[in-house]
Amino acid sequence: MQNAIIIAGPCAAESREQLFLTARGLKENLAAKGLALDYFRAGVWKPRSNPGDFAGVGTEALQWLQEIQQEFGFRVCVEVSAPEQLNWCEQHDIKACWIGARTAVNPFDVQAIADAAKNRDFTFMVKNPMIADLKLWVGNIERFLNAGVTKLMAVHRGCADSNESVYRNNPSWETAIDLKVRYPHIPLLCDPSHIAGQRQYIAQLSQLALDYGFDGLMVESHYQPSAALSDKEQQLTPGELAEMLSQLQFKDIISSPAEHELRKQRTLIHNIDTQLSVLLSKRMEIVDSIAKIKAEHNLPVVQPEQWNKVVRMYQDNSLQDDDYQEFITEFLELLHQSSIKRQRK
Ligand code: PEP
Ligand code: MN
Repeated sequence: MQNAIIIAGPCAAESREQLFLTARGLKENLAAKGLALDYFRAGVWKPRSNPGDFAGVGTEALQWLQEIQQEFGFRVCVEVSAPEQLNWCEQHDIKACWIGARTAVNPFDVQAIADAAKNRDFTFMVKNPMIADLKLWVGNIERFLNAGVTKLMAVHRGCADSNESVYRNNPSWETAIDLKVRYPHIPLLCDPSHIAGQRQYIAQLSQLALDYGFDGLMVESHYQPSAALSDKEQQLTPGELAEMLSQLQFKDIISSPAEHELRKQRTLIHNIDTQLSVLLSKRMEIVDSIAKIKAEHNLPVVQPEQWNKVVRMYQDNSLQDDDYQEFITEFLELLHQSSIKRQRK
């Protein structure tokens, strides 16, 4: 996992103490695994969907982050959504900023920030917009390139559009892979925290991202996630993060267009598998509700006409070749037997 870019830190800067405890935890726990942070992240101005939610402590936190840079030797990055925030960052020697997914949907805002970045020495991490719109993401990258910004990275954090998966956001891996094909020299990072929404999925998403050819990760970490003022379900302690990173396998660099295409196709399969895994579980839950109704009303568990309708629907909607029809028949038989078993229980 040594060759990957690693950005980590809390969702939001909450207090000086929280930042110091988290930064120290990251420094020590990563060092114990032979790893080091490339950037320490913390949101100072937090864009929240609900107006009453914690919106960050604002400019006061820049002072604390400047101290973190000095004390731990980290480079710090924060989210910016308006040009004047670059001035405030600069005053505190903070030279790396990310564009958040909400700002990324507004070309006026991104252009204003890119204009303000001209002839200044900032590094930008450009997140994908909330929606899976490759053109908008590309447009944002172009705005920074046109402004002469050379230190650029892209960060994939999933999309908020139709999402039949266990994750908070749709992984939409193919959008990120397409961006990588277009800009092979711009490092592409994955933010598994905002895709996952739940810490239990962060390791699997991180490994998938590395398998798909991502160059690094931006992960949320808080010294005490249960006390976090935002995104508490998806933050890892520094110890958990270091352990996870040490177990990840960093794959070789993508070498050919065929390899790109293969990885992209795999991402599409993964999207489908995540949906299937959720849909099949949901289906079983509905089977349980049906079982209850049947039991209460003394109805038979097996109702052949009903099941035949299901089978016919699958046969009609499926690929029509013999091998596939054989597969779907066997699959449905398994599904049916499993439903009957659950209902009898
Ligand atoms: C964040 O990184 O804390 C954040 C708000 O991310 P996003 O813009 O991806 O939602
Ligand atoms: Mn967050």
